[in-house]
Amino acid sequence: MNVLCRIPKVSRQSLSGKCRSFSSAFVVENHVGVGSGPLHEQHRLPVTQFTEDEQMARDAARIWANEELKPIVRDMDNECKTRPEVIQSLFDNGFMGMEIPDEYGGSGMNFTSACLVVEELSRVDPSVSILVDIHNTLTNNAVRFWGSEKLKSKWLPRLASNCVSSFALSEAGSGTDAFAMKTTATPSADNSYFTLNGEKLWISNSKEAGVFLVFANANPALKHKGITAFMVDATTEGVHVGKTEKKLGLRASSTCPVVFDNVKVDADDVLGEVGMGYKYCINILNEGRIGIASQQIGIAKGCFDIAMPYLNDRTQFGTKLADFQGMEHQYAQIATEIHAAEVMTYNTCRMKENGMQFVKEASMAKLFASQVAEKAASKSIEWLGGVGFTQNLLAEKFFRDCKVGSIYEGTSNIQLQTIAKRIKEEYQ
Ligand SMILES: Cc1cc2nc3c(=O)[nH]c(=O)nc-3n(C[C@H](O)[C@H](O)[C@H](O)COP(=O)(O)OP(=O)(O)OC[C@H]3O[C@@H](n4cnc5c(N)ncnc54)[C@H](O)[C@@H]3O)c2cc1C
Repeated sequence: MNVLCRIPKVSRQSLSGKCRSFSSAFVVENHVGVGSGPLHEQHRLPVTQFTEDEQMARDAARIWANEELKPIVRDMDNECKTRPEVIQSLFDNGFMGMEIPDEYGGSGMNFTSACLVVEELSRVDPSVSILVDIHNTLTNNAVRFWGSEKLKSKWLPRLASNCVSSFALSEAGSGTDAFAMKTTATPSADNSYFTLNGEKLWISNSKEAGVFLVFANANPALKHKGITAFMVDATTEGVHVGKTEKKLGLRASSTCPVVFDNVKVDADDVLGEVGMGYKYCINILNEGRIGIASQQIGIAKGCFDIAMPYLNDRTQFGTKLADFQGMEHQYAQIATEIHAAEVMTYNTCRMKENGMQFVKEASMAKLFASQVAEKAASKSIEWLGGVGFTQNLLAEKFFRDCKVGSIYEGTSNIQLQTIAKRIKEEYQ
């Protein structure tokens, strides 16, 4: 596969410093304003306006997805597998180390850029976008935020260059109620290592993973306050990845059970502090939801990419389908909702990057974007008529792929619960 080199070329060479200083430049332009006039006179960018670096990341992902990924999407869905050369190309093009700093071999970009890459990949293949999303927004960032310098030096260069990661939280008995997990991490007498025992379920990327970010309870008597996060090398004795689930959608993405059978993990591979895993988990999933919202926006746009050229081309009763008012009203409505989802999601990215509270907005963005993706996927099949219902086009795949947006990283009910909790607090 081609190395388009756009992200690594820019971030690892000439623009690496520029990328890192980007956030502060954005704060000046967007939130403080340029010039010395009163606030209402100051220049403020819309949230749908991106910096040069962000546009570059988005364009690189768009070009790569269209040139390298699109030709093989259907085959990978049928094979229920993301091809190894695709994964290597994701690394080679810098998409797997979006926010990992240059000094660890990453692309040194910001969170918005990572989300834009997820959106663009999703527009072509949501299975590939979920691999990139989990890797960047959950594992890479958890290691960056809470890892010791030793842990960062050990894992970040690998995560940026060749090691796929999985986020192993859910279990058979603990999905939404994630902290009711049964996986244990028993400390050795001298606290130099932990022994992990348990079984995780639904673990994305697990067939390809070189490392698992595993949540296990190191002191069940303390309930959730015993939960600890570990970086577990996939080659460690006792790590067993089970059979890939046969799924409705995201079929090229591996989702498997992972068993930890007396797995010995060095204390140096504890992420952050023992007993703080539940806090890290909540925090990183709050951010991760913005990534899932981006994935869902990509799906909705991917549906339009297929449907609109068809509506502009096909005629019935001597009129283009796109020109029937009954059709115009439908696609105008969905396009409006996609725009609303974009504004919500990009704004939440900016809130996060500027250190503001964003938990309610992230839940809203994920909830709404997943609803819009479902609508766009369903409507686009109707607009395409009979051919939309066949495998001749990828619209039917988007229809299958979008459904999980209302399930993983917090179901829609849980997003509503989070939003309701914050609203009640605001009115207390
Ligand atoms: C394709 C796929 C990939 C996944 N990838 C990963 C991964 O990489 N890592 C990982 O750890 N997990 C992963 N998951 C697991 C996912 O996060 C869980 O499926 C999700 O959290 C829901 O848990 P559950 O399936 O046990 O459903 P349950 O928790 O049993 O929920 C079932 C239903 O009950 C509702 N419900 C539950 N509790 C409440 C409540 N308090 N109030 C109102 N309604 C409630 C839910 O909203 C849902 O509608 C993945 C799942 C899928 C399908």
